[in-house]
Amino acid sequence: MSQYWSSLVHRLIPYVPGEQPKLPNLVKLNTNENPCPPSPRAIAAINAELGADGASLRLYPDPNADRLKDAVAAYFAQFAVTPKEVFVGNGSDEVLAHAFMALLRQDSPVLMPDISYSFYPVYCSLHGLQHRTIPLDAHLQIRVDDYAGDNGGIIIANPNAPTGRLLPLAEIERLVAAHPKSVVMVDEAYIDFAASIVPTAITLVRRYPNLLVIRTLSKSHSLAGLRVGYAVGDAALIEGLERIKNSFNSYPLDRLAIAGASAALADTAHLDKTRQTVMDSRAQLTLGLEGLGFEVLPSAANFIFVRHPAHDAAPLAASLRQRQIIVRHFKLPRIDQHLRITVGTEAQCEILLSALREIVGSPSAKG
Ligand SMILES: *Cc1c(COP(=O)(O)O)cnc(C)c1O
Repeated sequence: MSQYWSSLVHRLIPYVPGEQPKLPNLVKLNTNENPCPPSPRAIAAINAELGADGASLRLYPDPNADRLKDAVAAYFAQFAVTPKEVFVGNGSDEVLAHAFMALLRQDSPVLMPDISYSFYPVYCSLHGLQHRTIPLDAHLQIRVDDYAGDNGGIIIANPNAPTGRLLPLAEIERLVAAHPKSVVMVDEAYIDFAASIVPTAITLVRRYPNLLVIRTLSKSHSLAGLRVGYAVGDAALIEGLERIKNSFNSYPLDRLAIAGASAALADTAHLDKTRQTVMDSRAQLTLGLEGLGFEVLPSAANFIFVRHPAHDAAPLAASLRQRQIIVRHFKLPRIDQHLRITVGTEAQCEILLSALREIVGSPSAKG
């Protein structure tokens, strides 16, 4: 607290990211990082950009990151996406922050699920937007018909976080079609883990000028450390985002990020392999946890959302922590008995399962 803070700073309640402890040998299943390494082609492109003496770093990067926008457009060539329909930023968190500022209205509340990415209400407070939370149904699923009436815009994550639940594309379309006067933002941070045939809302962008789809390379492309996110939407929405970006930071993406991300997007074979690895590991982990009596929500993401009917979530998380395993527990209404567990490598999942076997015992052993 300081007398020198602006009234805005006094009002803010900042987002708290999952911890990044600097301990070795940790089984880190708390921030949905991908256990597979990134594309070797991305690493080669970063090294090539750097060169032997790093001389390219003397120069500013391309402020428009055209190479990366071209790579995103090429990645979605089957949906005829053009570079003018692509915005790129320093992680999708930055893309979201700009989108809230550029495209949501202050005269009516922004609608969002009561259980979702907890950064959304933080962006609202940062940009002076009112928001109203819409409860998920009893199965922690989004109910599109509950998003009714006047609003300053709508933001949902699909698959949702931290539940992992996927809303079918037809439901997304119903939501976007029902609110032609508002921008509907769909955060697809985890969509690549949904299935082998990706039901992305990007297929709807051509028909709905009020739809913005936000993506990241942090999760499915294993590049959380590079900080690259993007949005796809009607060219007029993208122009609005560019106006904010060019009033904020001309060079949000550095040279290494532009080079690495462009190459990663081109390596679709690597993406297919790693996402299949994660989906297989998710299926194994789900079976293992169900065998220990956990209830596991069906997940379309690289994490699962679980609860145990006989064990409170907070002590479970604490016992795992004593064994150097960290998972995410949210002390929030409705979900304080759940744990969000990132799908790790097969070996990490095994370590987790044997620890939980010790902690909860097998249901049959309890008698
Ligand atoms: C991880 C995550 C993001 C942020 O991704 P970055 O690109 O790393 O900033 C955005 N939305 C959701 C729902 C996420 O889980």
